[in-house]
Amino acid sequence: MPIFPSYFNETHEQVRQTTRRFVETEILPHVAEWEEACTFPRELYQKAGEAGLLGIGFPEEYGGTGKDVFMAVAFTEEIVRCTSGGVVASLGSLGIGLPPIAEWGPAEMKARVIPPVLRGEKIIALAITEPSGGSDVANLKTRAVRDGDDYVVNGSKTYITSGVRADYCTVAVRTGGDGYGGVSLLLIEKDTPGFTVGRNLKKMGWWASDTAELFFADCRVPVTNLIGPENGGFLCIMTNFQMERLTLAVIATTTAQIALEECLRYVGEREAFGRKIGGFQVIRHKLAEMATRIEASRELNYRVAAKMAAGETVVKEVSMAKNFSTQVSDFVTYEAVQIFGGMGYMRESVVERLYRDNRILSIGGGTYEIMNEVIAKQLGL
Ligand SMILES: Cc1cc2nc3c(=O)[nH]c(=O)nc-3n(C[C@H](O)[C@H](O)[C@H](O)COP(=O)(O)OP(=O)(O)OC[C@H]3O[C@@H](n4cnc5c(N)ncnc54)[C@H](O)[C@@H]3O)c2cc1C
Repeated sequence: MPIFPSYFNETHEQVRQTTRRFVETEILPHVAEWEEACTFPRELYQKAGEAGLLGIGFPEEYGGTGKDVFMAVAFTEEIVRCTSGGVVASLGSLGIGLPPIAEWGPAEMKARVIPPVLRGEKIIALAITEPSGGSDVANLKTRAVRDGDDYVVNGSKTYITSGVRADYCTVAVRTGGDGYGGVSLLLIEKDTPGFTVGRNLKKMGWWASDTAELFFADCRVPVTNLIGPENGGFLCIMTNFQMERLTLAVIATTTAQIALEECLRYVGEREAFGRKIGGFQVIRHKLAEMATRIEASRELNYRVAAKMAAGETVVKEVSMAKNFSTQVSDFVTYEAVQIFGGMGYMRESVVERLYRDNRILSIGGGTYEIMNEVIAKQLGL
């Protein structure tokens, strides 16, 4: 056995290759155009489904690969190389919307919803955040009142990734009293009377992704659309956050890695004061610092992923990984723009987009401050 065994096996490497080919042939040739258009063709979901990329981590009986944390890591590391956080976020919304159904949904729902989403024929979103707040999940206000065989849902959600296009929404609602013990998850389907979707929200980054407000006005949802136990949704949401946080950490580290690679190329080309800018010690040390922090964050992410794969509880560690990785990507993408000078501010440079797209990573899926709250609690504070 080698002293430093790889976290990745041959199957993971195959997934890496397939994803890389998909990025090179199906995304990169169009990515600049899609970013400017703030959208991408819906067919991309189907193409990703046909390539087997949407089934990663989902049950085999519904067309997935089965649970495999490092397969998901390998996929994320490669898909981020399309350099559009928006494409990654949209294609990846099933990664947050679908697991609650796969994990806690009734059999009928699983059989009906999971296969078409994994084939890329249907799109799913996760809707937790509300206009009144996203961090304080236990106090969400969208209400679902039982009436016969239905829940009547009233309220609204905001900043929902894939919300404009979604056929299915996994929605957090209040079915019980105040606090976390009154929260449930409901599957709410497009075109359900009383469910409307607002405009595509304009954003700092993630331009190619659609982000929406969702409105529910006396929206009747069959009780059979309940995901998990009534008033037991909070635990499902918190469990679901674990993989999302690891994924965001991997996205951050890979974003930083791409920014570093862009810089390494540029400093060997760009000249100032009659020499390559890579010859200035200030720049060399900056690159050394960037590379060191990326190495540390990648290793932390892999370590947390390994613990997750072994079935360990990683509530504290995954929050640390998300915060560490996003701090690193904040530093690296900022410095990458600096190294590129004026060109770093131009749309034609990749680092400009990486810098904008990166900014959400310490906000979505639990903010930097909320992650620190989680860590502090786990420390017994
Ligand atoms: C592009 C984008 C895509 C998104 N996609 C989705 C999605 O698909 N589904 C979804 O449900 N949500 C989504 N979100 C929402 C995202 O998860 C929330 O924005 C995030 O959780 C923070 O919630 P908030 O914006 O309401 O901020 P708030 O909760 O209002 O927080 C505001 C500030 O106060 C700080 N704060 C809050 N509480 C505390 C505390 N206890 N201690 C210290 N500081 C605190 C926060 O850290 C933050 O800095 C998305 C957001 C964006 C921008």
